[in-house]
Amino acid sequence: MNKGKSKSKSKSKSKSKSRNTKKHPTKLTKTKNQKQKTRKHAKKSTNKHTKINHAPNKHGTQYEKNGWIYISVHGSPKERGYANGFLVAKELADVQRMLEFVSMEDFGIHWSFFVDACTKYFIPTIKRRFPEFYEEMEGIAEGATAAGTPMTTEEVCAWNNYFTLTESWIGHMPKDEAKKLGIKPEGKSKSREGGANDRCSAFIAVGKDWTADGKIVVAHNNFANFIDGQFARTVTDLRPDKGARILMMGYPGWIWSGTDFFVTSAGFIGTETTIGGFHAYENNVPICCRIRNAMQYGRSLDEYEHMLLDGNSGDYANSWLFGDVNNNEIMRIELGLNFHNTERTSDGYFIGFNAAYDPQIRNLECSNSGFNDVRRHQGARKVRLEELMKKYKGKLTANIAKIILADHYDVYLKKNGNPCSRTVCAHYELDGREYMSDPGRPLPYQPRGALDGNVCDTAMAKQMSFSLRWGDSCGRPFDASAFLKKHAQWQQQEPYLRDRPSQPWTMFYTTNTK
Ligand SMILES: [Zn+2]
Repeated sequence: MNKGKSKSKSKSKSKSKSRNTKKHPTKLTKTKNQKQKTRKHAKKSTNKHTKINHAPNKHGTQYEKNGWIYISVHGSPKERGYANGFLVAKELADVQRMLEFVSMEDFGIHWSFFVDACTKYFIPTIKRRFPEFYEEMEGIAEGATAAGTPMTTEEVCAWNNYFTLTESWIGHMPKDEAKKLGIKPEGKSKSREGGANDRCSAFIAVGKDWTADGKIVVAHNNFANFIDGQFARTVTDLRPDKGARILMMGYPGWIWSGTDFFVTSAGFIGTETTIGGFHAYENNVPICCRIRNAMQYGRSLDEYEHMLLDGNSGDYANSWLFGDVNNNEIMRIELGLNFHNTERTSDGYFIGFNAAYDPQIRNLECSNSGFNDVRRHQGARKVRLEELMKKYKGKLTANIAKIILADHYDVYLKKNGNPCSRTVCAHYELDGREYMSDPGRPLPYQPRGALDGNVCDTAMAKQMSFSLRWGDSCGRPFDASAFLKKHAQWQQQEPYLRDRPSQPWTMFYTTNTK
């Protein structure tokens, strides 16, 4: 859509004993029998959740439901941060193990190197520009530590900047940092895939020509490597003492969503898909603070755009999709570093498929975008999501959105029911990659793909709610042991990879608190 176009410049298989599990609010590690019970339970009843746990400072509650960890926290930055860290401490212990493994396995670098880099290059900026968010991270570290997972504020901050550090900063690190590693700086972003990773499918639509009630419908699924993406199962109801209340899903111990999917009490719904192969970066304000600032303080689509551009680093470059339920208007910002492309409409749609329409971003700030390559997930979903928008023109609802997210039509082979890397519900784990055009991109049977489904519409947003499904958007279960047995090249992930049994779609709301 080009209307209104304006361009401007657990089931963790932990082998190590977790520390002091007694102090943790919930014991997540389950026996096989308990696991099976949980699966049956999830099928029988979709409205039950586990016992409610409370943070000792009375600023938060937590329970688990259908694969998700739900927390509701409120208060000053320190108060809500402490409650947050305390209530997800057990999960953070597994995150720490994963980070050390992935840093060394994929980059040959200890996680502590990234923590030091964050401390030196990001924290001074965050403290100066967003002391509120820094204090919240201090609280998270203190809460996690109190609940038995020792963590420093620097570690929490590095974890919040995981994408920025491992996909953007790493290729642009100062010479003396590279020297510490015994390498020469590359001068451009790199990742396991030679540019920013490709993550997620999404669309947002509005207006009587497109949605059934003329109001906003949004859908998104997070796809990522399972080993880190499997931690994006926290639903957070965040009520700060200033600014808007936020309901978001994403990673534990983060001050932002990261995946991203959120609604705010100011009337905004937000999501994004990454721009794959993006390689421009300059060390300014990290994305975790810029988007959190917009979520908490943004009062108009103009302010969202301004807050994302203010201090832009080019890290985690995304096609951001926002809906303003007060004015029934939607916006897409393709946010590069030196270029960005903003479009708005009150009767149309925007899709997200990990490549930028903007030719300057795509050619000057990305390499190997896959934009027109239907063998790749970018080109294939560019075609398929457009087809699905036309197919459901004027009929789009949250329920239709769930069908779209679970779509397995393969554009390249013109084949129905072929879940693979090219489908909207992404399944790299099932894909032999026979048609791969770039060997540097995800590998055959890579443990990677859709990890959830997220939908929201104007009515849900007005009630501060959304509907989520944990696991593949289509509901297909993932059995880690069976997968690793079949694809032994990934065996080293065995201590880390979790099962994801099939879960139902589940509504989440904010919690009534004083
Ligand atoms: Zn699927």
